[in-house]
Amino acid sequence: APKDNHPPTAEMQALDAAHHIHPFSDTAQMRSRGARVITQADGCWLTDSEGKRILDGMAGLWCVNIGYGRHELAEVAARQMQQLPYYNTFFMTTHPPAVALSAKLAEIAPGDMNRVFYAGSGSEANDTNIRLARHYWHLMGKPTKRTIISRKNGYHGSTMGSASLGGMSGMHAQGGMPIPDIVHIDQPYWWAEGGDHSPEEFGRIRAAQLDQMIDELGQDNVAAFIAEPVQGAGGVIIPPETYWPEISRICKERDILLIADEVICGFGRTGNWFGSQTYNIDPDIMTIAKGLSSGYQPIGGSIIRESVAQVIEDGGDFNHGYTYSSHPVAAAVALENIRILEEEGIVTRVAEHTGPYLQKKWASLADHPMVGEARMVGMMGALELTPDASARAGFANEGTVGLMTRERCFANGLVMRHVGDKMILSPPLTISDSEIDTLVELAWKSLDEGM
Ligand code: PLP
Repeated sequence: APKDNHPPTAEMQALDAAHHIHPFSDTAQMRSRGARVITQADGCWLTDSEGKRILDGMAGLWCVNIGYGRHELAEVAARQMQQLPYYNTFFMTTHPPAVALSAKLAEIAPGDMNRVFYAGSGSEANDTNIRLARHYWHLMGKPTKRTIISRKNGYHGSTMGSASLGGMSGMHAQGGMPIPDIVHIDQPYWWAEGGDHSPEEFGRIRAAQLDQMIDELGQDNVAAFIAEPVQGAGGVIIPPETYWPEISRICKERDILLIADEVICGFGRTGNWFGSQTYNIDPDIMTIAKGLSSGYQPIGGSIIRESVAQVIEDGGDFNHGYTYSSHPVAAAVALENIRILEEEGIVTRVAEHTGPYLQKKWASLADHPMVGEARMVGMMGALELTPDASARAGFANEGTVGLMTRERCFANGLVMRHVGDKMILSPPLTISDSEIDTLVELAWKSLDEGM
């Protein structure tokens, strides 16, 4: 068994603490007790170095949509590595996986979104989008249209550009962000910020901020608006029904590009191929990553509307590209992942069965005295932990109860993430009904232990 193929846990933890800086982790706390070492995974289950099994309610980082242990993807990767492990698509070359994946993405993307520019991750793809949007307006003879409007608490990645698009103040504080010409408006977070407004009213109020911000900046200075169809890492903020129709209308009327960051929402998470379809959004550019390869290979990209792409193409060289843009192994694996999503009807099943079943079970957690709201769209959801469910407000010392609940879940064999005092869920789309039952039981038990 793989358990025997690695050094003892304590030895790995010591080496890890000595040499490895972890992303988004409290190093002091981790060193005091050692990182949990995950050694293998199958279906929806992780196994740690001590042989304990953990139900992965986060699909890794919202990415392992088809679940772990898919031999088909490993076989495709091995074959591609032997045939053509690397080549690029710079300087007038291409290769079969890039051709096939691009054609496939053009087929499944909505409407006339039929061009793809590849990156190695969602962060890189969003950096590309900044360049694309500004270059587009330059070529259109409107070079002052540079500013990109984004949202507070949005997450678009960790590079300087993408973290600037993001609205995470904790990230901005480290390293001097946002970079110039990126501004943020409020999110449509009804539960905590909606006050006495109905969700519908509140959706319109928050969408109107886009109009106001364009007025403030001057329409001639605004290039684009970017947002996640459902704000994920910010705490699964599900927009009121009125929000996206208003945003879409404003972008069209004010002549600014609409960029839908589909890194989490794409590839089935909301019950359609893209969150834009669930919310009737008509974007000019979509950011993709994560579920594109179910996390089996690092790959991201921008899917671009034909009319926008044509302007870029007619403008000569786009002086932009990554060594791993359209990496052949990543592209081949992504293509196989999409084939599996299609062949097994996984996206339809999310819409018709798994999503509704999970939503029903998840909603039952709202009966727990610590839960103020249990919301979910498709298969991404959040619990609002609160000392007083009637007040629609969190705990005074925000994040402490969330962290403790996350740790209890982890000890009980369930991965959930916490964002402040919100507990987040985004399991593999292939999770079974009985695994959903187990998941909700483990969540309830972990909440009980915190009472
Ligand atoms: N965009 C969204 C909506 C995300 O959730 C993420 C990652 O969580 C990213 C972009 C960044 O993607 P990556 O981590 O692949 O760079």
